[in-house]
Amino acid sequence: MPSSAAAAPPQELAPEQWCERLIPRLPTVTQALCLQGGFAATGRHSLQGFPLIAKDVPAVNRRKRPLRVLLMGGIHGDELTSAAIIYRWVADMNGPLAQSMDWRIMPVVNPDGLLAKKASRMNANGVDLNRNFPTPGWETEAPRYWQVRTRADPRRFPGMAPLSEPESRWVEDEMHGFRPDVIISVHAPFGVLDFDGPAQPPHRFGRLMLNRVGIYPGSLGNYGGVHRKVPVITIELPNAQQMPSQAEVRRIWVDMVRWIADNVRARSEKDVQAADDSAPAVRR
Ligand SMILES: [Zn+2]
Repeated sequence: MPSSAAAAPPQELAPEQWCERLIPRLPTVTQALCLQGGFAATGRHSLQGFPLIAKDVPAVNRRKRPLRVLLMGGIHGDELTSAAIIYRWVADMNGPLAQSMDWRIMPVVNPDGLLAKKASRMNANGVDLNRNFPTPGWETEAPRYWQVRTRADPRRFPGMAPLSEPESRWVEDEMHGFRPDVIISVHAPFGVLDFDGPAQPPHRFGRLMLNRVGIYPGSLGNYGGVHRKVPVITIELPNAQQMPSQAEVRRIWVDMVRWIADNVRARSEKDVQAADDSAPAVRR
């Protein structure tokens, strides 16, 4: 079983400094593009003390309640393109549909994995953050799934308890605070779309077609989509190191925004409350 690393003190880095650290791991992202992204420290840190960064892009037109979209990349640190594509999209959010939505954007959910000597899927504790969310029955199902179905694959270790990691706790807190109507989580390298939760699944974004990958104890799709009743789209880019073409980066974005506009409905406070109430109690 992977051992637990002690949390390191927070590193108070300026954007120039964290961009300098990140860009060697972000294909096609320059220092200028990284800074232009306008991300800010959230006050939360990874296990090794790296700042967890985010930004809000509010809707331009607020006549009706805008759809709230939570967009995240890099939950698996060795999926470099999943973080890089967020910077590329953010530089180009100028269409009227995207501007009609409220965005909360978290480009690098697992900076310790991304920045490890050899980029790592897991966080600094050896935990697969995408198996660390508090789905019902996690305490029995997640360890059993890990041992039996993955044969204790260290790359799939769900952690010792749900939300045991600062990075997964941060995502959970963002879900609570921002109350998204839809969650988009970018991965690589399976080259497909996956979908969990209420709403018609997307058929294709760019060249990526819907292909249900499966449902796992502790995954964000299972937790957000099935249990919190927020549609979760998992975008699996086709390559973890090499970015899609510029045209394809754009097409995925355009198709995604169009799908959100056509298929996602704004959740009422009542819906949110009902899903919160029925969601499993979270122990910290
Ligand atoms: Zn992944």
